[in-house]
Amino acid sequence: MKATNLKLRRQIIATCLELDRRGLNQGTSGNVSARIATGFLLTPTALAYDRMKPADIVHLTLEGRPSGRRPPSSEWRFHLDIMRARPEVGAIVHTHSMFATTLACLRRDIPAFHYLVALFGGNNLRCSDYATYGTQELSGHILRALAGRHAALIGNHGLIVTGPTLERALALTIEAETLAAMYWRALQVGDPVILSDKEIARVRDKIATYGSYGTTRA
Ligand code: 13P
Ligand code: ZN
Repeated sequence: MKATNLKLRRQIIATCLELDRRGLNQGTSGNVSARIATGFLLTPTALAYDRMKPADIVHLTLEGRPSGRRPPSSEWRFHLDIMRARPEVGAIVHTHSMFATTLACLRRDIPAFHYLVALFGGNNLRCSDYATYGTQELSGHILRALAGRHAALIGNHGLIVTGPTLERALALTIEAETLAAMYWRALQVGDPVILSDKEIARVRDKIATYGSYGTTRA
């Protein structure tokens, strides 16, 4: 097979291995995709990350036509539907990470209990309804839970995170799982204090210039 987009294929595998190394995914759980000019690249189904080679990554068009030596992830429908509906999304990470999935099994949204919830585009991370993995029904539930957000919990299943790049989607996945762990811990002790919508809007404005404190005094 001609190895087109070799650098991005390698970056997808590196992202999968990093998720594995951090304990956010293991074995064959989860999947990762990245947009290219002719559609997107997606991890294959049922292949352990430590065995994945660049040629195993599957190309799909935005009409959903796969090509490659392996079948695409069983979750190709939600990757396709997000890539079609959300042109700003360049990469998608799906995990079964421990704390996000624990909350997803409880069908709990993550409210604005911590200011960094604002990183994900609003005042919460929603939890989607449940549907069988790999189905069009699940894709519909996920798109609804992701409205105006860069992440959502997937009911009785896991976590989904989007970003403009793979690097950003991975960083946001690590943040989302950290927030899920903190929220879960806070719930063990009592009722976490929830920040107001006004405060989350203020944080979102401030985050937009995060890293440029040398030039602005916020
Ligand atoms: P795939 O190996 O088909 O990507 O499935 C893993 C998964 O997480 C299904 O939701
Ligand atoms: Zn899954």
